[in-house]
Amino acid sequence: MEKCTNTVNVYRVHEDHSDSITEYPCGKWVGGEKRYCDECLEKLQKQYPQGWTGYAGDTCKHGVYVGGCGIDYMCPQCEME
Ligand SMILES: [Zn+2]
Ligand SMILES: [Zn+2]
Repeated sequence: MEKCTNTVNVYRVHEDHSDSITEYPCGKWVGGEKRYCDECLEKLQKQYPQGWTGYAGDTCKHGVYVGGCGIDYMCPQCEME
């Protein structure tokens, strides 16, 4: 995917219960997940209809979370294919 130059407004509630909306570049890690702009989100949701936990592609097509385990990690069902 080409680098996206859009920004994302991320609404967050802080520990002291104050809240804020901060603008981040698209694809930035915020609070344990990658935030995507609407355009990227639409593309990624088509590419990864199973959804994801932290970043697009971290959940395989079987819905198994495969992020954070190294790029070669696959779920047992993916490995069988
Ligand atoms: Zn984007
Ligand atoms: Zn799988």
